[in-house]
Amino acid sequence: MSARFDLLEADAFTRTYWDAAAQGQLLIRRCGACGRAHHYPREFCPHCWSEDVSWERASGRATLYTWSVVHRNDLPPFAGRTPYVAAVVDLAEGPRMMTEIVECALPDRLRAGMGLEVAFREGVPVFRVGG
Ligand SMILES: [Zn+2]
Repeated sequence: MSARFDLLEADAFTRTYWDAAAQGQLLIRRCGACGRAHHYPREFCPHCWSEDVSWERASGRATLYTWSVVHRNDLPPFAGRTPYVAAVVDLAEGPRMMTEIVECALPDRLRAGMGLEVAFREGVPVFRVGG
């Protein structure tokens, strides 16, 4: 019974994030106690465990931390997209986020620390070079 309740709560909580993404806005969570932002969204601050966290619209700017060109992935929807660039980026607000680099014809040109900006593909935040 309580497990089902928790699941419903989690859905209602993350719906805010996905609703915003569907409208082209990247949301992060910022803690009112320690001031740090985090991602993915959690109901507690992962830095100080405060419940005083609220949604904030991210700038959409990030820098490339690390990446990997994936040449093979048999799981849909990735199978039809190879090769693609899986990446970890540092959002301007601080949080580190796993994502994908899109519109990147020359992955050899990617460099750690290069500027990225958020884009959205089918309601999912991805990043492209620029910004
Ligand atoms: Zn905190």
